Amino acid sequence: MRMSDYYDVLGVKKEASQDEIKRAYRELALRYHPDRNKEKNSEEKFKQINEAYAVLSDPEKRKQYDAYGPEGFNQRYSNEDIFRNFDFESVFRNMGADFGFGNDDLFGAFGFGRGSDAGNDILAGVNISLEEAAKGVTKKIMLTHVGACRKCNGTGGEPGAKEVRCNICNGTGTAKQTRRTPFGIISTVGVCEQCRGAGRYYDRKCRSCNGTGSARVSEDVDVKIPKGIDTGMRLRLAGMGDYGKSRPGDLYIEVTVEPSRYFTRSGSDIHSDLHIPLSVALLGGEITVKTLNGDKTVTINEGTQNGATITLKGEGMPHMRGSGSGNHIVTITVDIPKGLSAEQKEMVRKLAGSEDKKRKFGIF
Ligand SMILES: [Zn+2]
Ligand SMILES: [Zn+2]
Repeated sequence: MRMSDYYDVLGVKKEASQDEIKRAYRELALRYHPDRNKEKNSEEKFKQINEAYAVLSDPEKRKQYDAYGPEGFNQRYSNEDIFRNFDFESVFRNMGADFGFGNDDLFGAFGFGRGSDAGNDILAGVNISLEEAAKGVTKKIMLTHVGACRKCNGTGGEPGAKEVRCNICNGTGTAKQTRRTPFGIISTVGVCEQCRGAGRYYDRKCRSCNGTGSARVSEDVDVKIPKGIDTGMRLRLAGMGDYGKSRPGDLYIEVTVEPSRYFTRSGSDIHSDLHIPLSVALLGGEITVKTLNGDKTVTINEGTQNGATITLKGEGMPHMRGSGSGNHIVTITVDIPKGLSAEQKEMVRKLAGSEDKKRKFGIF
């Protein structure tokens, strides 16, 4: 889980300048680099430091992180998102520290990208109504993806097969590679081809999955969708993606909120139209309005104009972070009656006549 606070990881204050963040990162990256630091957990710590820096050194990502907090940010961003546009090579070059690897190697070391036996992330979509988005909802989605092979339980070994130590890497799961780079010739540690990083393999492959340990599966997944969600937002279900021998991928759910017949949404505000009879516009009265929270009675003031708006405070969409909700803004259309009877026309003429007199004598 990537839940630790990035500011704590780097040991800086929330209002730290970019320079302070850079300095803190440089110091920690040098201290915890796995090639220099042989303590247990140094690799994990090094990953955290880089992740924290990838986010806090990018003004846009930092803003999002400040707005959503560690958990909210974690829901919205995958590892790949976090490191996108983050150029390790130039960061390290600028720091003047030759760690002996470039972008690719670092990504490899992080367990995503090349050669790793991790499962893929998968993306699925779900459609919900605006009313469901307002209340929050749990949706069942049918997913067909790569799961663990049932016959071998994902191990890739035929039942009864013996697990043997990999003779190529001597059980370490790693293989040394030498490459020519802009820094000179450097050797890096990659994943062993034969055992794919496991350090062991089975002497007989599972015949059902040919040793991959994986198979297509169909399953129902319950997805809890938080209230206030909007179209295009993605939820991350850690470890629910494709099966992988070293670790499973993540499942991302992209939510589409379907347009409503009654409401239009603008951020956390809701807009709707309300038709009122001419008599209510003239004399005032009470009208029932459909809101996300059910029917509400609103008071129409005497002399309400066509196009006037009424704001129902707190009746809009819930805010995703923090408490409270947006507003519901009702725009009024005054219905002008058609096909008046002779009697009604006479009444309107009387009304018109009294209006004329008012104008003539300047009485308002
Ligand atoms: Zn091996
Ligand atoms: Zn199998």
